[in-house]
Amino acid sequence: MSTSAGAGARTVRVKAPGKINVSFRAGPLREDGYHSVASLYLAVSLYEEVAATSKPGTPSTDITVSIGSSSVPGLAAGVPLDERNLVVKAARLLAEVSEDACGVHLEITKRVPVAGGMGGGSADAAAALLACDALWRSGLSREELSHLAAELGADVPFGLLGGAAIGLGVGDELTPALAPTPLHWVLVQSPLGLSTPLVFGELDRLRALDGGEPATPRAVDAAVLSALRASDAEALAAVLVNDLQPASISLVPQLAEVLADGTRFGALAGVVSGSGPTVALLAADEDHALVLAERLADAGHNALPVHGPVHGAKIVSDLHH
Ligand code: ATP
Repeated sequence: MSTSAGAGARTVRVKAPGKINVSFRAGPLREDGYHSVASLYLAVSLYEEVAATSKPGTPSTDITVSIGSSSVPGLAAGVPLDERNLVVKAARLLAEVSEDACGVHLEITKRVPVAGGMGGGSADAAAALLACDALWRSGLSREELSHLAAELGADVPFGLLGGAAIGLGVGDELTPALAPTPLHWVLVQSPLGLSTPLVFGELDRLRALDGGEPATPRAVDAAVLSALRASDAEALAAVLVNDLQPASISLVPQLAEVLADGTRFGALAGVVSGSGPTVALLAADEDHALVLAERLADAGHNALPVHGPVHGAKIVSDLHH
């Protein structure tokens, strides 16, 4: 590892999307403590941004992080600003395989709810990987970056890829899915966060009470894939599913009311995203999503219209100072 990346500082800014899970199936608890899943990820138009600024002449162990002033106010309250932050872990990992790595400052603009089931931290990690890859000219292929991403977390490879994709394994074995026309959604965000391990633990507890062993999911339901391929919101509404939903509702009972309000105000269907507590409500089209969001906001919900699929992590600017 050298300690220089050229004379002047340079800032590479990358944006990466949050995700919802249109379909999420979880198998039984494995011996390694994980669950096998079959997930249909959809990247939506709510973006994180990471600006990576080189610190020429400093060692690549000099990695600092801050929260940008354009972040949604209050959102980043629980986000660690040290080596526990996923962007720091991402930069560390990439520095190990980059000959020209130098120190870097990473500024995160947070818009995706923290611990919201939308993979916000994973989007940050994907953005940091792409930004540092450009900064340090590591010359890694997309595939190599994706392997590093999987070491950081199950949802990080999808943050890089974006679009719509099937995720198998723990969610990191991705196959792109066809979804030619974006669908319109309303996200209902909760002020509470839900820890993913806590929700999986609750799923295991509820399943033990129920008796019976769930099957290991091997594929996403064909009906989900064909509804997406046809951009058919009505057909997709009939097959939205999340095995984690009962566990999320058990931990945050108000989520049942959010889902009920969603359908009462006209959503085609609703589903908890990932481990929650964000709820994704499906609308028929853009106008419908706007009306639905307004009705939900009038009823006191934090509702945001979005569309998806959208692109994965991409560079939006590259400035030499
Ligand atoms: P997923 O759906 O991938 O499980 P999530 O959207 O529920 O994730 P995140 O917002 O990604 O949850 O983060 C969960 C936890 O990770 C946070 O509570 C925080 O302590 C930690 N964390 C580390 N780095 C970050 C980051 N850059 N942004 C947000 N949280 C981070």
